[in-house]
Amino acid sequence: MQPVYLDNNATTRTDPAVVQVMLPYFSEQFGNASSAHTFGSEVAGALREARKRLQALLGAAFDYELVFTSGGTESDNAAILSALATQDGRNEIVTTAVEHPAILNVVEHLDKSAGITTHFIGVDECGRLDVAAYERALGPRTAIASVMWANNETGTLFPVEQLAEIAHRAGALFHTDAVQAVGKIPIDLKATKIDMLSLSGHKLHGPKGIGALYVRKGTKFSPLIWGGPQERKRRGGTENVPSIVGLGKAAELASAHLAEERTRVLALRERLERGICAQIGHCLTIGDGKNRLPNTSNIAFQYLEGEAIIDRLNRQGVAASLGSACASGSMEPSHVLRAMNVPMSALRGAIRFSLSRDNTEDEVDRVLQVLPDIIVKLRELSPSWQKRANGALADPPRLTELTL
Ligand SMILES: *Cc1c(COP(=O)(O)O)cnc(C)c1O
Repeated sequence: MQPVYLDNNATTRTDPAVVQVMLPYFSEQFGNASSAHTFGSEVAGALREARKRLQALLGAAFDYELVFTSGGTESDNAAILSALATQDGRNEIVTTAVEHPAILNVVEHLDKSAGITTHFIGVDECGRLDVAAYERALGPRTAIASVMWANNETGTLFPVEQLAEIAHRAGALFHTDAVQAVGKIPIDLKATKIDMLSLSGHKLHGPKGIGALYVRKGTKFSPLIWGGPQERKRRGGTENVPSIVGLGKAAELASAHLAEERTRVLALRERLERGICAQIGHCLTIGDGKNRLPNTSNIAFQYLEGEAIIDRLNRQGVAASLGSACASGSMEPSHVLRAMNVPMSALRGAIRFSLSRDNTEDEVDRVLQVLPDIIVKLRELSPSWQKRANGALADPPRLTELTL
């Protein structure tokens, strides 16, 4: 039996159509886009086409607002460092406590080493940003506010259009890490005040090692990578042509499948959550029940360790991940769930199921077949579950009980 892959927020399968369009750029079409002959001009044309496809997916006003990078991490770093370099007299960053490490670790590093002050804005128990605290943290010293569009662990969506306007009132730039949002929800950058946006190819059925940073026309920019005049001098280095062409195709496919994300993928997610809820007690959905990516489900199985659940699911051919993919391998509970004050008894047993257009109803049903048994067996082995059953342990405060 084919394994069931429900870890699409970690990475997605490269669409076969993406692989197909990339292949010629390793062989016949090997030119350098900067060369003044046909080999070069053909490749330059392919890059232009890819940029246009990405522009369409994002609703950007101009194709040159996109800078190709090596992925989401580079785009995030470039945005933050550019703002600090170009916003004279401003040395503060406003961000959130639940960002991806690609933002958190660069701003923490800057905070320690470079005379930069960072404000980390907290979230409530559903993962919603404290917008009043965000507004208070912004001021005449803020160079940039950076808030992710969608959280990778819980799928919670942030009101980035509104947050961008608030940042502008303080004269600060606004950046969003939209790696998890692009391709899953409609985006129309023209209609927003967002100055910079990060995306990554491999989170939307494109190749790994390619991404882009949107930089709104008129936004001052200082490169992270200095070199040749590629990308209008905003990112040096000969372009990664096959991957850029692949990202363009992935963007085109994402545009075509956007409606499906909100209908079929959402229906699969609801089938999964309803099925789990109907069969298994003491589980909680984590995240904003309403404002959430259509594909993401973070469910805490109380009194259990997530690692054990993942391991048994894996043995049954189901790939999911811990509530935090980035905390996996370490025993540290996820910074996102801690910021949300998820009770300890639930936090350790949080599992993230992240779906994509590749998934089917049969696959969801297979998970629903194997999961209840896994949970029952593991709970029989769980000391805290036994204590609770004996009445020696009170149930923790309820989160959003799984009600659909
Ligand atoms: C995966 C991810 C990144 C990192 O992107 P890479 O292309 O893997 O560097 C950044 N931010 C978020 C929210 C992500 O999910």
